[in-house]
This record gives sequence, structure tokens and C-alpha cells, in this order.
Amino acid sequence: MNHINKPKVFIILGPQGSGKTTQAVYLSNALGWQYFSMGYYTRKIQSQKSQIGKLSHKYYLKGKLFPTYLIESIIRLALKDYDLSKGIVFEGFPRTIRQNILFEKILKQNNIDQPYVIYLDIPKEMVYKRLASRKICAICAKPVSFEENMNFKKTCSKCGGKLVIRLDDNPEIIRERVALFYREIKHVINHYRSIKRLIKIDGTPNIKKVSSLMFDQLTKLKLI
Ligand SMILES: [Zn+2]
Repeated sequence: MNHINKPKVFIILGPQGSGKTTQAVYLSNALGWQYFSMGYYTRKIQSQKSQIGKLSHKYYLKGKLFPTYLIESIIRLALKDYDLSKGIVFEGFPRTIRQNILFEKILKQNNIDQPYVIYLDIPKEMVYKRLASRKICAICAKPVSFEENMNFKKTCSKCGGKLVIRLDDNPEIIRERVALFYREIKHVINHYRSIKRLIKIDGTPNIKKVSSLMFDQLTKLKLI
């Protein structure tokens, strides 16, 4: 890797229901960059039957969190595996300050500069509201995207089945999960603010509006 064409790294962070997956996929497609989320990439390597893939599949089946060494191996593999001639958009990772220290270390070893964090800012109360209204297809169980929900779709885009409210999203569990996210992400956000690599985007409007706010901001900062 030469010094002139270092790949850029963006991290898109936001609470559950902030539309971060949609925005990360959209941004990476629009820029022709690579896209990484832990779930997406591990599914990819699980189907390739690699050693790391097999191991991550074991944790996945048990519903357990990946240990740090496995996360490290996955990130290293992704950086080797992906074409990094332009850049890469990480979604939902790193979400704790410890993961971030590890992440920046790996990037440095790969001669990649510190990332920029794009944070989709949404108040807690709105997250609860969005998650509580999350729907699922009654026939094929396909989850309804935030966008479909915003468009008041009544039938499944895959099979045409009726959309119903997910019953497994217990309000107490949702509150705990969301509170944990805010507690941990605060430290990551503060770090990126202190090194002037934090880009806060208002995540409350609809998906299209959030995309354009994000694009305008990145263009203004001459990052894309
Ligand atoms: Zn369906």
C-alpha cells in the first residue's frame, strides 16, 4: 500500500432504529467503497468455510458475543480481503471504546489513517417509539425496514403477507438494550470529537433526507 492513495475509513454509528444499515449501504454504493458490518461479513466468511468463518458460526449459533481475539481476526481478514483502493464504510463497529482502541491499532498497522465517525443522532424516546412499532411479516417473518414502515406499507414486499407488530420486542428489553448502547457509544463519540473526526447527522428525518444531510456534510468537509 503506498502513501499517496491511503483508503479512507468511515464508521456509521447510531442507535437501533436509526437506519444506520440503510445509510451505510447507500453511502458505500454511492461512493463505490466497500461495506462492512460484523453480521454481513461474518455471514460471508461463514459460507466460505474458512477457519475464522467456522469459529464465528459457532458463536453465532450459541447466540454469544464474539470474543476480542475473534473480532480482531475478522477485521484483519476483512482488510486483507477487501479491495481498499478507495475506502470502506464500517457500520455499527466499533461500538465500545475498547473495540475502538483495537480497531485503530489494526488500521495503523495497515497504514490506514484514523477513521471518521458519522453519528446518526436520534433522541432515546424516538428510538423506543421506532422500535416499538417495528413490524414483521406474519407469513415469512421478514422484518419490515424502517423505510417501509415510514411509507405505511401494509403487506410484505417479499411474499405479500400481512405485516404485524413484533411481539418479541419486549419494551423492558428494548429499554435495556438502548440504554446500554448510549452508555457505551458516548465514549467512542467523545474520542472522535476530541480528534475532530466526528460528523454528527440529524437522524430524525426520513431516510432520503438523512442521506442528503450526510452527503452535504461530507462534501462540505471535503471528505468525499
Ligand atoms: Zn412475507
